[in-house]
Amino acid sequence: MITYSIGLKNKFRGITVREGMLFEGPAGWAEWSPFLDYDDATCVSWLQAAREAAVDGWPAPVRTAVPVNCTVPAVTPDRAAEIVRASGCGTAKVKVAEPGQTLADDLERVEAVRDAIGSGRVRIDANGAWSVDEAVQALRQLARFDLEYVEQPCAAVEDLAAVRRLVDVPVAADESIRRAEDPLLVRKLEAADIAVLKVQPIGGVRACLEIAEQIGLPVVVSSALETSVGIAAGVALAAALPELPYACGLATVSMFTSEVVAEPMLPVDGFLPVKSVQPDPVLLEAARADAARTAVWEERMSRVQKRSAG
Ligand SMILES: [Mg+2]
Repeated sequence: MITYSIGLKNKFRGITVREGMLFEGPAGWAEWSPFLDYDDATCVSWLQAAREAAVDGWPAPVRTAVPVNCTVPAVTPDRAAEIVRASGCGTAKVKVAEPGQTLADDLERVEAVRDAIGSGRVRIDANGAWSVDEAVQALRQLARFDLEYVEQPCAAVEDLAAVRRLVDVPVAADESIRRAEDPLLVRKLEAADIAVLKVQPIGGVRACLEIAEQIGLPVVVSSALETSVGIAAGVALAAALPELPYACGLATVSMFTSEVVAEPMLPVDGFLPVKSVQPDPVLLEAARADAARTAVWEERMSRVQKRSAG
């Protein structure tokens, strides 16, 4: 079991270094990388996902490549257009409702992305930052850029349902599924048109396939900012879904300053290949965390293992 520590090119969720554990089982390599602010109980599903990868492997794929979106953070319009053009992706996800910015900033950024991507698809993600009123006002203006959907416009699932009834832009639920006591509340309240699923938080590829079936909505698979080892699990889910009408949020390896596999899970012409990945021994050694961080992760792993066994 190896603890890795890899820098991020930009601050993400307040962190500049990503850490986690990598290990190999009979079925292949697995990543366990719950964010450090998560408590042990939350980490249990992340461990289930890693065990599935190492021990059971994944269901057979029904496709050989998975379309992915590029991600545009809350940057200037010029920078936003550059990111889209450099990505080669036919779908862009634009961060909106950033604290300290205004709706005018969002409108300029989304317009720049729409111009850069031409007839491609543009989706936005508010990460739950808007109230219902703010969401409705913003979406009525942003709708002119022909939005594919808005992800998590408000934090509460009831508010998602309200927004969905007030605007024509389709609504995707992200945090409302992976951080909810009951992920199916989204369905009961008819709060979303699309479900965003992440393999580690939900507890594995099979657990996600089960939710996908129960929730009865088209699925967008997203990463939890993993190395290529963890991304391969997301790709396995996207590859096994019966239908995949939207591009997935799995093109996040480029946010890392280095990698553990020789051929990282980077998109080519907007697609990721469906393949198994194996760390490169030299890269793995270079990514190895120091003794102090390794001890922190080993203790965390043993606490979570005990909890998941009990
Ligand atoms: Mg999101």
